[in-house]
Amino acid sequence: MANESLVYLIGAGPGDPGLLTCRAREVLQAADVVIYDYLASDAVMRFANCQAKRIFVGKKGFSAHVTQEEINACIIQEASAPGLVIARLKGGDPFVFGRGGEEGLALREAGIPFKVVPGVTAGVAAPAYAGIPVTHRRVATSVTLVTGHETPDKNESGINWEFLAKGGDTLCFYMGIRDLPTIVRKLIEGGRAANTPVALVRWGTTPRQETLVATLETVVERVREAQFKAPAIIVVGDVVSLRDDLSWFEDAPLFGKTVVVTRSREQASALSSRLSVLGADVVEFPTIEIAPRAMDDELTSAIADLSAGAFDWVVFTSANGVSCFFDMLCAQGCDARAFAGSKIAAIGPATAQALEARGLHADLVPSRFVAESVVASLSEACDLSSVSILIPRASAARDVLPASLSEAGATVRVVPVYDTVMPHDEEAGDLVERLRSGEVSAVTFTSSSTARNFASMVRDACEPGEWPALLTGVQLASIGPITSNTMREEGMEPTCEAPTYTIPALAHLVEDVLSNEKENN
Ligand code: SAH
Repeated sequence: MANESLVYLIGAGPGDPGLLTCRAREVLQAADVVIYDYLASDAVMRFANCQAKRIFVGKKGFSAHVTQEEINACIIQEASAPGLVIARLKGGDPFVFGRGGEEGLALREAGIPFKVVPGVTAGVAAPAYAGIPVTHRRVATSVTLVTGHETPDKNESGINWEFLAKGGDTLCFYMGIRDLPTIVRKLIEGGRAANTPVALVRWGTTPRQETLVATLETVVERVREAQFKAPAIIVVGDVVSLRDDLSWFEDAPLFGKTVVVTRSREQASALSSRLSVLGADVVEFPTIEIAPRAMDDELTSAIADLSAGAFDWVVFTSANGVSCFFDMLCAQGCDARAFAGSKIAAIGPATAQALEARGLHADLVPSRFVAESVVASLSEACDLSSVSILIPRASAARDVLPASLSEAGATVRVVPVYDTVMPHDEEAGDLVERLRSGEVSAVTFTSSSTARNFASMVRDACEPGEWPALLTGVQLASIGPITSNTMREEGMEPTCEAPTYTIPALAHLVEDVLSNEKENN
C-alpha cells in the first residue's frame, strides 16, 4: 500500500543527547507520532517535532505501568492511520534489552512496515563515560552484555553462569541492581576471583552520572551503604581498573554542579551549551518570553523613514531587537538596504553578531556593554546635537539611553518592537524543590527582566518566609551592573558579576566560582 504508515524503532542512546544518531534526529524531526519511555531523556525529546503527538509509555523495571502487549497495541493502533511516520523511541539501542525485537515481530504480524535505527547502548557508553573501555588489549578480549534481571516467570535461569564466570572477560549487566547479590554469588561460585574489580555506573553519560567501584567481594555491601539505585550498568572485569587512568567525564570542571539558566527558551542555548560542555547539569527555567509586537502605524512610519534615509544612526540594544525589527522590515517588503543611509550601533557583541547574520556590520560597538557606554561612544563618533537616531527595542527598557541622547541634543525616536513577558506555562514548583534540597549550585541572570521575573515566579511557588532564604548558599551570577541592581531590588544579592557584560564572560565567571567551590570542599 503506497500510503501506509511507517514505524521507526529508534535507539535514543544512553542519555547524553549528543549521543543520538543523525538518523534518529532526522526521523524525530519528521515524525507525526513519538512513542517513548522513561529512559528516553527530555533532552532527546526536544528534537521531536513540536507538532508531533507524544505518547509516554513509561516502564520502570518490572513495576510496569504499561505492559509490553499494551505498548505493541498502541504502536499498531497509531500506525493504522494512513501516511504517518511513527517514531518508537527507546533508551539505548532498541534491540539490546529494549524489547525492540518483540515490537518488530508484532508489527510484522500486523503487516505494518518498520525500520530500525540502532542507538548507542548503555552497556558500552556508561562504562566509557566512567573511563572504562569494555575491551582492552591484553586485559579483555571479549565483552558480554547480560540481563541482570530475567523475566520473573522463568523457572530456570537462561543465563549460563559458569560460562560467564570463567569465559567472557568483561561482563556488562543491565537491570542488575536488584539482583546484585545473586549475580555476585553466581559469579564467585562459578569461579570468578572474589577480588575481581566491579564498577556500577548510574545514569551514565548524563550530568547525574555516579560511579561506584568495588570488588565482587565488597560490592554488595558498598552498594547497600551508598544506597546506589537503578538505572545502572554493572561492569565486572579487570578493565574496571583502567578507570584510574582514563576517567574523564566526571573530571570536568562543573561536573556535579547544577546551574539554572533563566533566559528565554530560544536564547538559552548559547549559555546552556557552554555550561554543559564544562560538565554542569543545566536546568533551563525560562523567566522571559520574547513576544514580537504587531505592526502599527508607528512602526510602519519608522520603517518608511528609515528607508528614506531619515536617521543618521540606528541603535540596537539586543539581539532580540535586531531579529524582531528585521522581521518587521521584511513584512513591509523591505530588506537590509533600508539601512543604506544610516550608521548602526550595537550595544554588545551578541547584538553585533545578530546584525552580521543579516549582512550588516555594526559601525560602533562600545567597549562596555551598557546603555551609558553607547551614549559616550556615540558622542565621540559624531556631534550628537545634529543627529537623528532610531532605537528599535523592548517596550520595557530603561530610559537612560534615549534620555541621555536627547539631552545631548539628538533627535531620538524609540520604537518598541517586542515585549518581554513572563511565560505562562512555566512551573516553578520543581525548581523550588531543587532549591530546597540544596541541589542547585548557581542561578544565572542575563538581564533585569530575568531577575525580576525569576523573583516573582519563585516567590509565588514558595512557602511564606522561604524567600529569599531559599537562595542561601546558591551562587547568584549576574551579567552586569544593571542586572545586579535589579537583583538587589528583588532581595537577591549577586554573589558575582561578569567583568564584561556578555554570555561568554558569564559562563567563565560561573566556571570560576563553582570550580573554586569544588576545590575548597
Ligand atoms: N535498550 C537499552 C537498555 C534497556 S534495559 C540500551 O541499549 O541501553 C534498561 C537498563 O539499561 C537499565 O536498567 C540500566 O541497567 C541500563 N541503562 C539504561 N540507560 C542507562 C544509563 N544512562 N546509565 C546506566 N545504565 C543505563
